[in-house]
Amino acid sequence: MKTKLLLTAFIALSGVTAKAQLQVQPIVGSEAGFRVTSTLVSGKKDAVLIDAQFLISEAQKVVDEIKQSGKHLTTVYITHWHPDHIFGSTIIQQAFPDAKFVALPATVKEIKDSWQEKAKEWKGVYKDNLADAVVIPEVLKGNTILLEGKKLEIHGPVQGDDTHNSYVYIPSIRTVVAGDVVYNGIYPWTREANKAQRQEWVKVLDKIAALHPAKVVAGHKDPAKEDNVETLAFMKEYLHFYDEARATADNKEAFIAKIKEKYPTLGLEVILQLGAGAEYPEK
Ligand SMILES: [Zn+2]
Repeated sequence: MKTKLLLTAFIALSGVTAKAQLQVQPIVGSEAGFRVTSTLVSGKKDAVLIDAQFLISEAQKVVDEIKQSGKHLTTVYITHWHPDHIFGSTIIQQAFPDAKFVALPATVKEIKDSWQEKAKEWKGVYKDNLADAVVIPEVLKGNTILLEGKKLEIHGPVQGDDTHNSYVYIPSIRTVVAGDVVYNGIYPWTREANKAQRQEWVKVLDKIAALHPAKVVAGHKDPAKEDNVETLAFMKEYLHFYDEARATADNKEAFIAKIKEKYPTLGLEVILQLGAGAEYPEK
């Protein structure tokens, strides 16, 4: 009897421990929304969201998921200034007015400086599905967000698909939410990273690998893909091959063909085409 009681207590206790761990749920946008990831990190009662989607329809899906989870959204962290990570912010703010939007100083400045121009640029494409305003995040104090006493470490600014990217490391569950330092099953956005910057980007991938994460959530992903650590090796190989193809292809078409031949199954080819356009500018 005593043994049975002890056993019951042990099972109950281990159940509590398992529940107390933070949970990570990537919510992936549609193809029209560039398959951008918003990642919900949940504790027992509270939750933090990383990145705020691009389109209204996609941000609404994030809102629905959070409501369904029943968690209280305390914080929204924005990894970098690109419009696909911030334009859904007002939809999320309206649904969760308590949530505080935060970002690194460089990101806050770049969102302030760029959002109006980006709104004009994209309005013609997405019309009513693009919000007319964004939430300007507050500057994050320090480099940590606490969720029920557990740390979310912010690493940045670092080079990724832009010079001021950042990623989130959650030590308690050895998980990296990588923002646009990592793409998974999608052509990485290279249009704003030249050769020297791509080399810096590889160093950042090495730094993430050195954390020995068990899980890596990409900033853009094919929803069918696992969030596993192999995606870091893929990124390194892709960036290396990209340079190799650039050195050997005489023109944009040949360059695209080389990359597509090696990576025929990646999604959003438009990203590759735009990247190639920057490598082979029309004279
Ligand atoms: Zn992005």
